[in-house]
Amino acid sequence: MRSNEPSSLSRRAFIGSSGLALTAASLGADEKSEKKTKKIFRGGTYKGPLAVGTWDHGTLAARAALRIAQVGGRVVEAVEKGINLVEVDPKVTSVGLGGYPNAKGIVELDAAIMDGGPGLRCGSVQSIQGISTPISVARKVMEKTPHVQLVGEGARKFALEQGYKNANLLTPNAKKAWENWKNKTGPKVKDHDTVGVVLLGRSQRMAAGCSTSGLAWKLPGRVGDSPIIGAGLYCDSDVGGASATGVGEEVLRVCGSFLVVEAMRRGATPQEAVEEALARIIKADPKNKERQVAFIALSKTGGVGAASIRPGFQVAIEGEKLSLLLPTYSLES
Ligand code: ASP
Repeated sequence: MRSNEPSSLSRRAFIGSSGLALTAASLGADEKSEKKTKKIFRGGTYKGPLAVGTWDHGTLAARAALRIAQVGGRVVEAVEKGINLVEVDPKVTSVGLGGYPNAKGIVELDAAIMDGGPGLRCGSVQSIQGISTPISVARKVMEKTPHVQLVGEGARKFALEQGYKNANLLTPNAKKAWENWKNKTGPKVKDHDTVGVVLLGRSQRMAAGCSTSGLAWKLPGRVGDSPIIGAGLYCDSDVGGASATGVGEEVLRVCGSFLVVEAMRRGATPQEAVEEALARIIKADPKNKERQVAFIALSKTGGVGAASIRPGFQVAIEGEKLSLLLPTYSLES
């Protein structure tokens, strides 16, 4: 997981649902955008389109998704295309091309997409090899098959049938990192950073997507939270959407993203909802205080929530005249 990166936003920007500690100076933002930001973290209302993303690479994905939504693109299309940009970037070592491989040196990818509109349509691919844009294959599963999930070789064959090209996803950089891990000569890489995006488009249509290479050096065939609907992501345009990152096993145990959306359905603000889900993860096992898990959430009224167990997580927020990358509140310091 990314450590606390030095940034102009060096101090904790949010004190969770108990209050906000945002200042124009800490945000490096003007007064107007500070006001907007405070408002959305208190639960809305921000008239869309608005996109939120995980980590710094979430900025690229959320911004592209927002632009597509702003010009009238479909929310699912917008989320897919936004995430594609991160998937094909070989410098991002936790997603798509260039992602760190499993223990055998093979890159296995997980991705899922969910349309919050009528039918709650969704699709996912799990442990897919050789395809650099798994979020697009997940969308094809949603749109072209009667199924929700395809796994492994079946998913790869389906992708090839749909016209996706087989590619070598193991970049020299990722190969070297894997060799270092194997030979115990390099720095320890523990976790990974899934790219997740939740988008509120026009006419209150919402979608969410996420894509990851999963935990570095995982057991071959290991599937985390990201491609599991309700764990790595969930979206219902009647309420809002959420996405998770961090140790997927802990998110899976509590159906994390579903928990966040259902808390919002009961009336919690997105910020209260993400903190509630993280508290549940810690309650399940107090040792989770030492592990990193984070959520982002967006309500149908444009309220935003983001928090993590450990410090170091960042949320990207992209809206009309609003572009922020903020360190989030963490339950543990
Ligand atoms: N949640 C991902 C997984 O467990 C990894 C991450 O986002 O850090 O596969």
